[in-house]
Amino acid sequence: MTADPYPADPYPSNACPPELRRAVVERYVARTPTSKRAHERASRVLPGGVNRNIVHHGPHPMFLASGAGPYLTDLDGNRYLDLIGNYTAMILGNCVPQVMEAAARQLALGTAWAGATTGEATLAEMIVERLPSAELVRFAASGTEATMMALRAARAFTGRPAIAKFEGGYHGIHDFAMISVAPDPNNSGPDEAPLSVATPGIAPSATADVLVLPFNDAKSVTALIERHAHRLAAIIVEPVLANAGLLEPDPGFLQLLRDLATKHGIVLIFDEVITLRLAYGGAQAMYGVTPDMTTLGKIIGGGYPIGGIAGRADIMNWFDPTKAGGSVTLSGTFHAAPMALAAGVETLKLFTADSIEALNRRSARLARELRTMFEGASLMLSLNQVGSLLNVHAMAENVSRYRPGARGDKAFLKLLHLAMLNEGVLLSPRGLFCLSVPMDDAAVDSIRDAFGRALVALGVLGER
Ligand code: PMP
Repeated sequence: MTADPYPADPYPSNACPPELRRAVVERYVARTPTSKRAHERASRVLPGGVNRNIVHHGPHPMFLASGAGPYLTDLDGNRYLDLIGNYTAMILGNCVPQVMEAAARQLALGTAWAGATTGEATLAEMIVERLPSAELVRFAASGTEATMMALRAARAFTGRPAIAKFEGGYHGIHDFAMISVAPDPNNSGPDEAPLSVATPGIAPSATADVLVLPFNDAKSVTALIERHAHRLAAIIVEPVLANAGLLEPDPGFLQLLRDLATKHGIVLIFDEVITLRLAYGGAQAMYGVTPDMTTLGKIIGGGYPIGGIAGRADIMNWFDPTKAGGSVTLSGTFHAAPMALAAGVETLKLFTADSIEALNRRSARLARELRTMFEGASLMLSLNQVGSLLNVHAMAENVSRYRPGARGDKAFLKLLHLAMLNEGVLLSPRGLFCLSVPMDDAAVDSIRDAFGRALVALGVLGER
């Protein structure tokens, strides 16, 4: 007797009958034999067989070979509409001629030197022009470094040790960011005063210096900040909590954070690594609330590694190496790498206010049509949409706080991810997805239709 290599139990969703769960998994396995072999090989030399935890999924991760426009192709030659876009980074899709030419010009000149280049100021000028909060800018090589350094500058500026972040908020993988990123909602303290929950390996002192706040709970946030204000250097927040289920701020919530930060001399940091795409001036322009500092990444590198820190001159000047009395060291071998700068400049040139508006309009239409479709499903499904970002939730009500969202049917979302791959669409296994500029109306139609077929395959929508 051969052991069953893919039991349906990894996806214990009551919404979907076991035989349909099995059929979806088996179809994925049948379509991706080369990915399976590639994963077996990789598992001998890489923990878990992957290099980014986030690309790991069962029964084996899909291995990619190439991208073109809004499409990706895997090792088996299957083509997917790419609704992850490297977790929202590839705003223009893949292989955009203008971006490739700029990167290729730089490639021919050399890729990294220990010396200043003019591309730094060119990209910084574009960010200063777009972002209300940006007076000065610095570049690093990742969003993780951006948030780590913004928090450090805030500590230097205020002379205080602690920071506040939101439960469910993701700001990269440094110690202060990896607190309460995806804690068990049933085992993380009271709703109104969440515990600071560390992931393995985090320094206990970091846990002690991170105050965890409940998003969209104005009363509790006010009480917690008032109580800890004397210790707080910074409040860091994604203006839309993209990594916790795409939670939109309630009206007035960001302004409340602005007012509390101003009142107590706390540095307010908007992490716009993802949300910059929402409007020409980022989410801060869209919501009309200006933080003291902004962290950036993803789209500003045009597909190459980058991080950005922007903000008030008096705080940013802590990075000035000539600062009297010592500065905050911000330096890295591949910071502001010339190819990332060149590709980022071309990407921002193409990501105009008009193209953002058209993209957001197509996304709103997709959201409307998916919501209508979900009304006919046997499982309660809901959809959050802000601009070109979308998140499907396996629960009835609109999700606006971390804990209800975290209690949704996660196994169903993982099955939906596989069922969508079977239909030629890549979205994230936790339900987050996004549109990119090259996705036209026909692409939106095909995404909607793929959702329909995937939900039929999972047995939550009748044959249409
Ligand atoms: N902040 C936010 C809001 C992010 O979404 C991410 C990455 N997903 C980061 C920071 C970290 O960026 P990076 O992966 O480039 O380190």
